[in-house]
Amino acid sequence: MTAFWTEPDFDDHELVQLVRDRKSGLTAIIALHSTHLGPGAGGTRFWHYADPKDGLRDALRLSRGMSYKNAMAGLPMGGGKAVILAGLDKVKTPEMLAAFGDAVGALGGRYVTAEDVGISEADMVAVSQRTPYVSGLPVEGQGAAGGDPGPFTAMGIYLGIKAAVKHKLGKDSMAGVHVAIQGTGSVGGGVARLLAADGAKLTLADIDADRAAKLAAELGGASAAADAIMDAACDVFSPNALGAVLDDAGIARLDCPIVAGGANNQLARAHHGDQLAARGILYAPDYVINAGGIISVALEYLCRRDGEACSVDTVNQRIAQIPERLEQIWAESDASGISADKVADSMAQKLIGR
Ligand code: NAD
Repeated sequence: MTAFWTEPDFDDHELVQLVRDRKSGLTAIIALHSTHLGPGAGGTRFWHYADPKDGLRDALRLSRGMSYKNAMAGLPMGGGKAVILAGLDKVKTPEMLAAFGDAVGALGGRYVTAEDVGISEADMVAVSQRTPYVSGLPVEGQGAAGGDPGPFTAMGIYLGIKAAVKHKLGKDSMAGVHVAIQGTGSVGGGVARLLAADGAKLTLADIDADRAAKLAAELGGASAAADAIMDAACDVFSPNALGAVLDDAGIARLDCPIVAGGANNQLARAHHGDQLAARGILYAPDYVINAGGIISVALEYLCRRDGEACSVDTVNQRIAQIPERLEQIWAESDASGISADKVADSMAQKLIGR
């Protein structure tokens, strides 16, 4: 592996650690971008990378993203991310998870981990046998914070879409507002249900066409082919599946005044935020609008650490602040002519002392 500081995604990360455990066969990278606001929090990804450099890039990029997301969510947490480099067979053993837990523990709380792609709640329970610096563990009682972050993420996005509709279209109600949703999984499906209850007009798409069609039938919406949803004439396009959908071709296809959804890393490159702004499309920066899940995960961790009770109500109160943050970003963007994504980035950088 080449020196990480020559990687274009290296951004003065405080620590980048390669973890090798010969006995279990674990190879992992832990990247701590910033602990300026608190312990670096961000999940662990278990993925097979044909080239390990791609794993390093993911760890660098995703940990910086977590610094920005946690800062903008008002959490006393920094940004970190771990990547376990899976073999081609994608075998994950208890010994690997134990060795990974020991590596997290050795950082003494500077990094707090949780689930990400390829890592389950049961995996995190296994990691938590070796280190206390773990979140995303099973909920500990009725009404307690924690559990599946998807519904919390969906709630933040729903509130963010309402704020965007108010800001751009001057509407206080979602009745009849047409939202095209790409991806009807945990997050997109949750957003669709919340919007349907408000009388929004929905068009749903998923590469699992059955999934989208079933939800559309249940909610009284329409479904579209996955490869056609970005062409839908609508009020809001809500990406809730893949990252990088907002590239040259994707932005050219959009027929909507607002983009607001939960997928991570929606902008393929930095200049795509300018392209959206140039087309007069209001953009809700992804890591601001999709912070509901991390708010839940972080409060679960902080409350357990501090021995305090932490309820779902506390989590929801924090999530209710997402629209205000978006408003601040859009107001500054309107006043300065700087695109919303760049306004958000510079707000986040200020918060983490960069
Ligand atoms: P999920 O796996 O539950 O759902 C994703 C859905 O997208 C699936 O139904 C899948 O079939 C569909 N899909 C995949 N490719 C597609 C395509 N090209 N077109 C249309 N549909 C497609 O995942 P999720 O938890 O709902 O996460 C969705 C997005 O939100 C991801 O980008 C994730 O990183 C991001 N996110 C999730 C959370 C969370 O709390 N779950 C938090 C922040 C961000």
